[in-house]
Amino acid sequence: MDYQTKNGHLLFGGCDTVELAREFGTPLYVLDEEMLVENCQSFLRSMEKYYNGRGMVAFAGKSLCCLEVFRIMKREGMALDVVSGGELYTAAKAGFPMEKVFFHGNNKTPQEIRMALEYGVGHIVADNPVELALLEDISAELGKTAKVLFRIKPGVEAHTHQYIQTGQIDSKFGFALENGEAIRAVEQAKTLSHVKLCGLHCHIGSQIFGTEPFREAARIMLRFMKEAGELLGAPLHILNLGGGFGIRYTDDDEPIPYIEYMADVSQTVRETCGALGLDMPEIVIEPGRSVCGPAGITLYTVGNVKTIENVRTYVSVDGGMTDNPRYALYQAPYTALVANQADRPADFTATIAGRCCESGDLIQEHTLIQRPAPGDILAVLCTGAYNYSMASHYNRVLNPAMVLVNGGSARLIVKRESYEDLLKNDL
Ligand SMILES: *Cc1c(COP(=O)(O)O)cnc(C)c1O
Repeated sequence: MDYQTKNGHLLFGGCDTVELAREFGTPLYVLDEEMLVENCQSFLRSMEKYYNGRGMVAFAGKSLCCLEVFRIMKREGMALDVVSGGELYTAAKAGFPMEKVFFHGNNKTPQEIRMALEYGVGHIVADNPVELALLEDISAELGKTAKVLFRIKPGVEAHTHQYIQTGQIDSKFGFALENGEAIRAVEQAKTLSHVKLCGLHCHIGSQIFGTEPFREAARIMLRFMKEAGELLGAPLHILNLGGGFGIRYTDDDEPIPYIEYMADVSQTVRETCGALGLDMPEIVIEPGRSVCGPAGITLYTVGNVKTIENVRTYVSVDGGMTDNPRYALYQAPYTALVANQADRPADFTATIAGRCCESGDLIQEHTLIQRPAPGDILAVLCTGAYNYSMASHYNRVLNPAMVLVNGGSARLIVKRESYEDLLKNDL
């Protein structure tokens, strides 16, 4: 993995990470504003280039949700995808333009639906017939019309290098095509006077490296788009193709440039529209990980180093599954290094352990880092996505602070939790 060093210390966003750890304490999330902005802009530029700007890049808010990040997304011209009342509330408090918000979720509550309609969310991505009925009732009561997309299971499921085409995909999300669920939902929408079906949505997986699964999904979605438009008597004009673009967590990952996804998929969309006689829809994509993942790192302080002869060496840090549960959940790969020895060789095999009462509380197993000593600063790279947003309070461990770095300066954007914060709802 590429990283910069100065005087043997890891640099990030122009800042000495060892200094950051000293100034702000550990564990610490560090987010590089310049990288975040560049990632947004490269998606936005490709939307201009390949779709003449007729579309939106919606940041998947679940990947990193806090006020300052949402403010940056607003400033950069991104749209936003949210999946809960909490994320929606954060967007509202960040002053995010509500017409550029997509509200997802497979089981939105009536309260959340009301909130979304009252806030004036641009599009609600409807998941099931019960939700459609709720949308109709609540919109009627509020005297509004809900603009919706349907979440469709295109029967393409992709993770990393492969994708599978299934008949009935086993998923809790959305309407299936092949058993008629999706078309029946279009029929249902036709009967509703406060729900306007504007388009379709799919999301086929995460950490995807090839363009073919996206192309296949686009073909399937466009075919259904035509069918649905004909049944409805009005063409659908929005196609949201979701997120899932892969990033480099370790040297084993070889992501392709985002511009290639956009180039390939736009070509497929154009060709398929041509063949079907459809007008080009507006295209929405929803990158999360690929916008914020590489723009974040986590800094920890090494506590004890336990070598168990002929077994392994545990390097314990002052965080763990409470700030990054992804290894515990699904053995997610990460690259770690000792930030204060960043230009020494990584020749020490370590298992990086957290501090929770859980043997599975590990950040990485059998990974190569510099030989660590108590008090060293350990950096884990590429933690911008699905770390802070997945943090928990297990063992009443305090959630870390987050700093935004840019060109050598750093500013706190999320305060470190206090013990008082932990008790604020306890009666
Ligand atoms: C998770 C998710 C995304 C973002 O996925 P990434 O892998 O972070 O790009 C986008 N859209 C929907 C509906 C999702 O559930």
